[in-house]
Amino acid sequence: MRLSKMHINTLREVPGEAELPSHIFLLRAGMIRKLVSGVYGFMPLGYRVIRKIEEIVREEMDMSGAQEIHMSAIQPSELWKESGRWTAMGPELWRIRDRHDREFCLGPTHEEIFTDIVRNEVNSYRQLPLNLYQIQNKYRDEARPRFGLMRSREFIMKDAYSFDRDEAGLEKSYDIMYEAYERIFDRCGLTYRPVEADTGAIGGSGSHEFIALSEVGESDILYCTSCNHAATSEQMPGVDDIVADGATDALEELKTVDTPDTKTIEEVATFLDVPKEKTIKAILLTVYDDDGGVKYHVTAFLRGDRELNMIKLVNALKEPEHMVVMADEAIIGDATGAVGGFTGPVGLHDAKIIVDSELEHLPNMVAGANELDQHMTGVNYGRDYKADILIDIKQVQEGDKCPICGAPLAQARGIEVGQVFKLGTKYSASMGALYKDENMQEHPIVMGCYGIGVSRTMAAIVEQHHDDNGIIWPVSVAPYHVIITLVKPDDKEQAAVADDIYEKLQSKGVEVLLDDRDDRAGVKFKDADLLGIPVRITVGKKAGEGVVEYKLRTDADRSELSIATAIESALTYVTDGLR
Ligand SMILES: [Zn+2]
Repeated sequence: MRLSKMHINTLREVPGEAELPSHIFLLRAGMIRKLVSGVYGFMPLGYRVIRKIEEIVREEMDMSGAQEIHMSAIQPSELWKESGRWTAMGPELWRIRDRHDREFCLGPTHEEIFTDIVRNEVNSYRQLPLNLYQIQNKYRDEARPRFGLMRSREFIMKDAYSFDRDEAGLEKSYDIMYEAYERIFDRCGLTYRPVEADTGAIGGSGSHEFIALSEVGESDILYCTSCNHAATSEQMPGVDDIVADGATDALEELKTVDTPDTKTIEEVATFLDVPKEKTIKAILLTVYDDDGGVKYHVTAFLRGDRELNMIKLVNALKEPEHMVVMADEAIIGDATGAVGGFTGPVGLHDAKIIVDSELEHLPNMVAGANELDQHMTGVNYGRDYKADILIDIKQVQEGDKCPICGAPLAQARGIEVGQVFKLGTKYSASMGALYKDENMQEHPIVMGCYGIGVSRTMAAIVEQHHDDNGIIWPVSVAPYHVIITLVKPDDKEQAAVADDIYEKLQSKGVEVLLDDRDDRAGVKFKDADLLGIPVRITVGKKAGEGVVEYKLRTDADRSELSIATAIESALTYVTDGLR
């Protein structure tokens, strides 16, 4: 492609709303353009990258035995009501109505649609296993779309769904997809980590997220410094601290003590001269129903130095996440006897009490007395209070113990680019997707689902591959492999050499951009760096002597080579990069 003929519009200035390198460089390189908040279009060079990522995904999916189909993004509400997600999904579900007032949504995912296809078309074990996938636009009405392609309201996704006759079949399908994902992200040039992930919202028995490591990512992961264990911070199980003062301590008497103006854990710990580990922290929440009315109140308790993990709490309650909100102290106080800043587990009423599993083992704690300016000491689980739900709800932090081997955990940030998920029979059972076995007995089909954020992967690649001057595409996803910078397009000798290299490389299957624009050399070099084309061949003054300049985008060095050597070097570099 000749750049003089290409629609391209690079920007020198950093667009105001862009903060992350991927957002800045993709806009500046003219690869994406914003339509409205969280909605982007792809320009010629950007769309080539998208198609390269899609092709890598397609090749690996097809090789794994999956079959590509293409369903509509428009989904009727009836299917979502069948699965129960029409109400379970919050305002992120992009709901629309047609002229007959029938409700639809723009699909954020396609479990219902694929389950519907399969229940209509699969009825025998002979048709299983089956894996169907598509690459398609998805919609999520984000409250705060940001960071360009990283968190947008419309995005390109590959979603696949596997259908098996039993759990053993699902395990196999899951492993095949897991391995395909490793190959896909390897080929995209990403440094990533598969981590155990939360299964709460969709419901299922196991899941991994593939996290592209990046300081700017929104995913928090914890990984063991000794064994292989890694998980999202929501998912990492907490290890209860059972030692404390020793579980064999004699139980103290329950006493109420005056603790004026000690609303925070710090204040009460200082006032009573005890470590924060001896205190109990209370968190008040309210669960609402579909009509916005109060369903019930919740008080959650955990050790004073711990933080609440909201995902674990929501999963324990088995309620939709958006229905569980921090409580208005006045309302919950009247209803349950809680007193803001002085809430404790003893003497509450009309509230569901969730207690972090750790507190079961910790004797003689300090907790609020549900009276203004008063706390209780000698608070013991079992004797003085009981939980409706006793479960791990604490946030695991860097340095906490690995639940597998006990070594300290380390923390990293990253971008979630893919997820694999064992759904089990959640959708097939609720929607009646059944198959008949050899004895004509009916069973629900066992499902898995597998997503890759294609447009987000593009952003993640830029986050991992850039410098101050622009993008540094890995060869496998680069919009073009080689850029020929023609210094003086009106110089006949230079133009002829550039054309010769252009033709020869293209004839070998190399994708070449020829910068024949009537512009200063400095502008062309800046653009070549910004666009991130892996190999640059500069045709300038020495073209007449058969010498050109050869430079890799990953490398600061440039070298003068004969035309033939430059072509050979480029060909080798590109071939290696595609391997
Ligand atoms: Zn470990």
